[in-house]
Amino acid sequence: MAIATINPADGRTVEVFDPLDEAAVERRLARAQSAFESWRLTTFAQRAELMHRAAELLDQTNEQVARTMTLEMGKPLAQARAEAAKCAKAMRWYADRAEALLADEHPAQEDVRDSGGASAYVRYRPLGPVLAVMPWNFPFWQVVRFAAPALMAGNVGLLKHASNVPRTALALEDLFARAGFPQGCFQTLLISSSAVEAVIRDERVVAVTLTGSEGAGRSVAAVAGDEIKKTVLELGGSDPFLVLPSADVAAAAERAVTARVQNNGQSCIAAKRFIVHTDVYEEFLSAFTERMRALTVGDPAAEGTDVGPLATEQGRTDLEVLVGDAIGHGASVACGGARPDDPALADGWYYLPTVLTGVTPRMRIHREEAFGPVATVYRVADLDEAVAVANDSPFGLSSNVWTTDDADRERCVRDLRAGGVFFNGMTASHPAFPFGGVRRSGYGRELSGHGIREFCNVTTVWSGS
Ligand code: NAP
Repeated sequence: MAIATINPADGRTVEVFDPLDEAAVERRLARAQSAFESWRLTTFAQRAELMHRAAELLDQTNEQVARTMTLEMGKPLAQARAEAAKCAKAMRWYADRAEALLADEHPAQEDVRDSGGASAYVRYRPLGPVLAVMPWNFPFWQVVRFAAPALMAGNVGLLKHASNVPRTALALEDLFARAGFPQGCFQTLLISSSAVEAVIRDERVVAVTLTGSEGAGRSVAAVAGDEIKKTVLELGGSDPFLVLPSADVAAAAERAVTARVQNNGQSCIAAKRFIVHTDVYEEFLSAFTERMRALTVGDPAAEGTDVGPLATEQGRTDLEVLVGDAIGHGASVACGGARPDDPALADGWYYLPTVLTGVTPRMRIHREEAFGPVATVYRVADLDEAVAVANDSPFGLSSNVWTTDDADRERCVRDLRAGGVFFNGMTASHPAFPFGGVRRSGYGRELSGHGIREFCNVTTVWSGS
């Protein structure tokens, strides 16, 4: 895949970038290693000062950053502005808390005595240069949620971003440089995915984090496993959204739309499967479908657009094939199911917000991730069936449940196989909460104290006297 900025709203190629050659990659790896040797010795206060400066600069350039994201991957501009603001917030969150999150831990004195020691503690030390392989869908946020904790912990970062967001990738490198981070602390590698293996195998790279598809996760983790290097994988999701009889159905239907179409439907934590109790099924389906049909599809740079184009032409083709397979096997289309017929949108990679019913396990969409504004709605008889349908997926990223019944809540927390259970709302990430999944959605956690400790050497320090 060429490394290029191509506007998904009209299919026009804006700029093509030459990938780095081997010598240029080598220079960056050497720079990362040498930066780490001094960066690891800095204090939390020194790191925090630079991280705050980066947040400040990001806020000052919010509009420019947002427009770059919208140009490269088509998210509505208002959502791009919100993404940039959220990144600045996460930078400040880690700047202010990293020292406490990584403070020495002291085991109970009786355990220290039991070990025959006089004292013992645990110290979180940085690991070294970490490679981040990142996707285009939240092109700033995915990177910052890795970079802010990694840099605050004393690691340095190397970014291999998705090939369709090179301007965003370079803007990230530029942001950290302008904030004053020493050369080599955060570098962008404009390389194709085929060049990733050599970087992982380089002995200076100590760990890899990947956010992206299952296929990419599998190949990156296989190479890292072969090299015995730590990985964190944030992969796909097909999150369930349960609506139970005690729910506020109108509120659930309204939030369901946002949960499905945010970021033009291309979010790993988007609710994708709507699993509705038969008592409230008709009410939910009709309110949800009406709202999905009423969304404004159009130019993502125009204010007031709800849903822009898909980020890549291939992404739209994949979605069309998935919907076609479902219809071919008997699914019904409650709305959408096609490209918009507005001639002004004909050159972009648009797809109408779509609601499918009558989905069965024979259909690919039942088990695969629909990465676009396509919802499947299931009717279930009771909570047992709701949980069974929710768990009938290879993924396990997050889940959403609408209920006011305490017994339902407990049951869902106990039985839903996912890295999150969000009640009466939709899944959203926040710096304070761990983020990640189980099963095919990956392993490891980002954000919170769990995220910053993923790339630390958890060191036991013990003294006999
Ligand atoms: P992708 O094709 O897997 O790409 C992600 C990154 O991996 C890109 O930088 C890509 O580079 C690289 N890559 C792809 N194949 C690779 C390989 N064999 N070896 C090394 N690197 C490789 O995913 P995407 O289409 O951009 O993103 C969509 C997927 O990401 C969805 O499944 C979504 O659910 C998931 N996602 C998960 C989370 C989460 O937190 N769990 C968040 C966002 C997205 P190139 O662009 O150069 O191919």
